[in-house]
Amino acid sequence: MSSTPTARWAATALAAARPAVFWTDTPDRPPAREALPGDSSCDLLVVGGGFTGLWAAIQAKQRDPGKHVLLIEARQVAIGASGRNGGFVAASLTHGLDHGAASWPGEIDRLLALGQDNLAAIEATVREHAIDARWEATGQLLVSVSPHQDQHVRASFDLHRRFGADVQWYDEPGIRGRVASPTYRCGFLDRAGAAVADPARLAWGLAALADRLGVRLHEHTELVSLSAEGTGVDAVLRTGRGLQTVRARDVVLGTNAYPPVLRRLRHFVLPVYDHVLMTEPLSAEQLAQIGWAGREGIGDGGHQFHYYRLTSDNRILWGGYDANYHRGGAVKVALEQRDSSHLLLARHFFQAFPQLEGLTFSHRWGGAIDTTSRFTPMFGTALGGRVAYAVGYTGLGVGSSRWGAAVALDLLTGEPTENTELTMVRRRPVPFPPEPVRYPVVAFTRREIARSDSTGRRGWWLTLLDRFGVGFDS
Ligand SMILES: Cc1cc2nc3c(=O)[nH]c(=O)nc-3n(C[C@H](O)[C@H](O)[C@H](O)COP(=O)(O)OP(=O)(O)OC[C@H]3O[C@@H](n4cnc5c(N)ncnc54)[C@H](O)[C@@H]3O)c2cc1C
Repeated sequence: MSSTPTARWAATALAAARPAVFWTDTPDRPPAREALPGDSSCDLLVVGGGFTGLWAAIQAKQRDPGKHVLLIEARQVAIGASGRNGGFVAASLTHGLDHGAASWPGEIDRLLALGQDNLAAIEATVREHAIDARWEATGQLLVSVSPHQDQHVRASFDLHRRFGADVQWYDEPGIRGRVASPTYRCGFLDRAGAAVADPARLAWGLAALADRLGVRLHEHTELVSLSAEGTGVDAVLRTGRGLQTVRARDVVLGTNAYPPVLRRLRHFVLPVYDHVLMTEPLSAEQLAQIGWAGREGIGDGGHQFHYYRLTSDNRILWGGYDANYHRGGAVKVALEQRDSSHLLLARHFFQAFPQLEGLTFSHRWGGAIDTTSRFTPMFGTALGGRVAYAVGYTGLGVGSSRWGAAVALDLLTGEPTENTELTMVRRRPVPFPPEPVRYPVVAFTRREIARSDSTGRRGWWLTLLDRFGVGFDS
């Protein structure tokens, strides 16, 4: 192991970190709801107790309060990505303006407006229903931490300004004046680009809202199979009591990066493990050493990037960078702890904030990011239009999953809507190659991305992927 000061601080700081998700590791975690007690029927079956499923159930009830909505979750609400993410609630539906403007130039104005409306609607729900989501409308900073990120960050700023975003540029002294990191070279603040929140509390609050709206919500109830039956769908579910059947008119699948019951989705969504650290709360003196009075969510300009933010009790969440795809697309609890990724993150943390030497991490965890080759979700229907899905937010789904759920509900109506007419909704992403080719291709792409981050040059492989508008990201 390297004996640089940051490597030593990192090892010490990680020594007592709990291998658990900070957000859900709290005594006020709600008790589990009971599993579905027997066979049943409903108008709409929603599968998945993450943001997509919760918003689908809530919006279905808001559209038609008389509809019988049943939401099932294989384990517990917020056990998936929704309860273990960075808590950045971004306005973007397109994995950032840069990607959206390049991929859907003819629709980006519309997508931007839909994204801002979506973020406003989430905030309005939080406020109206007094959800204790620790919501902070902070905006977000994009910072450059290497010479070849400067140009990308500047170009992104210019693009945001061109599209009328409320942005502010900072050169080196300015950006370090906002947040005192010796790694910062320049950056910009996007004031309306994102809020930060406690994602598990947001999900729990949405589940409680769904209860109040009359949604029947059952945890520890897993969808096993779907089949067309008459004008509806028969869903076979597994609970501790064995197999049960639900007859539903319609189904929304919000199962994200988990092995999908609709096998066709396997071609399009990869589970990519991303890792996160949480520090102990900073003292007033430690906070004073880094500034950060605006409490913005922060990301750097690398393709392998770090994201970080303050929590309501002044911890720093620090995640990203070292995303890993595991052979065969495995999703399992054992993959959530990865010593090398956590150690690398901890080292990078002290490079960014050397003045915090001595600060320790309280929690370390990981989770599967729902990655598509175009970095935005994929939508569609199956079984004669009675099953709709919204999956694959590629690490930016805390906000956009509300919109994704609305798209799935729109698709079930069979009528064109403003959402369903969008190219991003109508077209599928390019599929990933199947295993055993998938793993080496993803590994090679990752290496090329790392090389591009250190040299500033895209290389032939990434240039080729760029030409087809496809890639690999988290
Ligand atoms: C480490 C990490 C950091 C991230 N940071 C951010 C961030 O800061 N900002 C951001 O916008 N996005 C972030 N993301 C991505 C974001 O969390 C997701 O895009 C979003 O939560 C997706 O919500 P979802 O409801 O679609 O999926 P999930 O929250 O994963 O929910 C899917 C649910 O379906 C259930 N399920 C699966 N299969 C079945 C079945 N057969 N039967 C019943 N239930 C089933 C699962 O148990 C799970 O609870 C991050 C993700 C990770 C992993």
